[in-house]
Amino acid sequence: MTTTTPPRPGERHLARMARGAEGIKPSEIPTLFAVRGRTDVVSLAGGMPNLEGLPQRAIADETAGLVALGGKVVLQYGSAQGLPKLREQICEVMSLEGIAADPDDVVVTVGSQMALDFVTRIFCDPGDLVLTEAPSYIGALGVFASYRADVVQVPVDDRGLVPDALRAALEDAERAGRRPKFLYTVPNFHNPAGVTLAVERRAEVLEICAAHDVLVVEDNPYGMLALDGRTFPALRSMDAENVVYLGSFSKTIAPGLRIGWVTAPAAVREKLVQAAESTTLCPPAFTQAVLSRYLARHDWRAQIDTYRDSYRVRRDAMLAALAEHLPEGSRWTRPEGGFFVWVTVPDGVDTDALMPYADRHKVAYVPGSAFYAEGSGRGRSELRLSFSYPTPERIAEGVRRLGLAITDYQSA
Ligand code: PMP
Repeated sequence: MTTTTPPRPGERHLARMARGAEGIKPSEIPTLFAVRGRTDVVSLAGGMPNLEGLPQRAIADETAGLVALGGKVVLQYGSAQGLPKLREQICEVMSLEGIAADPDDVVVTVGSQMALDFVTRIFCDPGDLVLTEAPSYIGALGVFASYRADVVQVPVDDRGLVPDALRAALEDAERAGRRPKFLYTVPNFHNPAGVTLAVERRAEVLEICAAHDVLVVEDNPYGMLALDGRTFPALRSMDAENVVYLGSFSKTIAPGLRIGWVTAPAAVREKLVQAAESTTLCPPAFTQAVLSRYLARHDWRAQIDTYRDSYRVRRDAMLAALAEHLPEGSRWTRPEGGFFVWVTVPDGVDTDALMPYADRHKVAYVPGSAFYAEGSGRGRSELRLSFSYPTPERIAEGVRRLGLAITDYQSA
């Protein structure tokens, strides 16, 4: 006898978009953060920023200062496009990567995650094609799936997205009578691959996309976190008409502020503002004001330097531990910034099947399969490690445990 579970209250009324096999999927992101409360597990899974260097005092002072002003403006509804002063300051931040933008080009969003959602909403009808890197940011794949976009993933190597592979993917699409709506790319310190698009490839990627009349969506939350303090020219700085740029303060100041932004050509920006109006009315005026006062009155560049210092020590600890503890046949990327190392395990190891072994050794990672479009079957020999959050000692211990888990798996 088969038993079917009765629908839970409300469930029968869900839209097709939210229901069953073809609907919005539970995100893996909460699972990644779930292990953080377990002190027995070393989590190298979630990519939470390390907030040891958080300018807590400065943020507290600016918050208190705003409340003391009475809150008549900052606790009122604000503009859907975002606080004008903050948009000016965002232009100053972007100028460090060579972008010459006007505050009017900028739309403030609730993290760049919301920007990704808006961008996909305004460009993609169900069944439209999006190109992205292989592997790609989980949160972007989730958004593309929720709007039912088809995803084609283009290989990366140690120097980022491979231009010839991009050209081939576009030619394949053209032969199939399809024009991708955009290329979604994370050029700097890629999540999850840890690689950076080589400067000499940047113009080529832009030229290829322009030749095929495909927009570029440049997602750049880690660009300011080069461990040697460098900045790379943003794609947006090289082609303002064909690039929609996504930025965020989550990794450079704090993710709890939930402030990101989009910089886009006027026709796109107008649609993004309408999307913001219908979704949130306006981004939170209060946190925008706190952030704006912080940027105006504190040395935020020096503060980002302290973040970089802490990430450099962690990255070095992870690379040293990988060399010491991973079995022969393993390979990994050597990130020059950001939060992530991408590991290829020895032949014969399946990173989905390795999970219970890692669990037994009390270490968490994200299996590579999570970073490929569903059903592709890819990523089973890869995994992502994050060095952003644990202490260097915990990172070394976590990698040691991962090495043991792989060796156990190989001898099982
Ligand atoms: N894009 C990428 C590549 C990310 O790694 C993240 C956060 N993990 C985001 C966007 C979203 O960041 P937020 O919404 O906090 O700005």
